[in-house]
Amino acid sequence: MREIRLYDSLSGELRRLETREAGKVRIYACGPTVYAPVHVGNARPFVVFALLRRFLEQEGYEVTLVENITDVNDKIYDAAREEGVSSDELAGAMSARYILDTDRLGLGRPDHEPKASEAIPGIIDLIEALIDAGHAYAAGGDVYFRVGSFPAYGKLSNRTLEEMVQSEGDEARAELKESPQDFALWKAHKPGEDTSWPAPWGAGRPGWHIECSAMAERLLGLDFDIHGGGLDLVFPHHENEIAQTEAARGVPLARIWMHNGMVRLDEEKMSKSVGNMRLLRQALDRFGRDALVMYFIAGHYRQPLSFSPEALDDAARSVERIREFGRRLDPSAPGPEALEPFLKRFYDALADDFNTPAARAALFDWVTEGNRRLDSGQQLGIGGFAEVLRSIGMEHLLDPTDDAPDSVAERLAGEREAARGEGDYATADAKRDELAALGWEVRDTAGGPRLVRRA
Ligand SMILES: [Zn+2]
Repeated sequence: MREIRLYDSLSGELRRLETREAGKVRIYACGPTVYAPVHVGNARPFVVFALLRRFLEQEGYEVTLVENITDVNDKIYDAAREEGVSSDELAGAMSARYILDTDRLGLGRPDHEPKASEAIPGIIDLIEALIDAGHAYAAGGDVYFRVGSFPAYGKLSNRTLEEMVQSEGDEARAELKESPQDFALWKAHKPGEDTSWPAPWGAGRPGWHIECSAMAERLLGLDFDIHGGGLDLVFPHHENEIAQTEAARGVPLARIWMHNGMVRLDEEKMSKSVGNMRLLRQALDRFGRDALVMYFIAGHYRQPLSFSPEALDDAARSVERIREFGRRLDPSAPGPEALEPFLKRFYDALADDFNTPAARAALFDWVTEGNRRLDSGQQLGIGGFAEVLRSIGMEHLLDPTDDAPDSVAERLAGEREAARGEGDYATADAKRDELAALGWEVRDTAGGPRLVRRA
């Protein structure tokens, strides 16, 4: 096993992955709040942790990955009210859609995807433990965490007390709090909210932060190995998760806190493009899953990542380069040892704070060197190339029967046809060239145009 190092947001340094139990990695990553269809930004942590899991498994670890679905939350009540449906109905439909959309990424599912609505007994237990220990108090049917009782509060986000004032979106209830930093663990039922659960301090529903503390502990125990999520969750969500669990249990929640950067939309380019590609489903329709996964790999998980049609087109071309190289390999030839250094570079990069852009560079250097050898008449086997592709979820690129035009090619072919229909031959030619760059040839047959893989 390689030594794996990851950047830990809590200590602010790269730390060796030292797991609670030898050979096992337990990961909890915060999933979406299901009040609207998931957008491309929601897909980033999904992809990062699915690929991290593949890498850790490749290294011989047994991985348990938990990604929750927040289906009880103010945002859901607000959106349901606006659409005139029940919050249950909206959350149910949006979680189903989240599953369908992320399934299309082809990276498998987490081991557990707990829903807050199904975790209420554990949440109530945790709140009771906090009240008993003096870290929380009931007021007006709500329960608040007493921030002043936990001196380490702020250690993750490194904020001053003034910067940690928290609002629960209902200013009328702010006076129930002992201090403006205190945050809600339980919210009393309000008129118009259509879900509530009985609790010792009154009917209501949990606050967002306590949901994750309770679900993580139930499925992974305490002091588990990696807690992840988007950088936008550091404060208050993760700061509060740490406070709740450590105050109640006296043990750290997790060993390493891993945060992914945000996806930034290039608004200018987006406004010129067709359709709303901000939604994961539409981005998948337009660019296909391979291009989308390749796009995420191109950026380091900790950095922001710009989302634009150009970035996705680039990613689609990269995928085609791999596919074309794969087609030149001879499955019956031995994997050449001379290409082994690329394999090592690939995995070493992943072991170094999961540096996917450096791993991707090693992969493409491998393709370049491999193509050079093939051009000079050498035969190359598949060797470690299949293993590397598996670790990024692209092993199917080596399958010669995987010849169905993807959605990108279909779209371009459609656009070419439309342009020809309007007599706009310049555009039609440009679309044909784009298809050629992606490895497709358009053959005009009696039955209409047909896409054929270029030899
Ligand atoms: Zn969470």
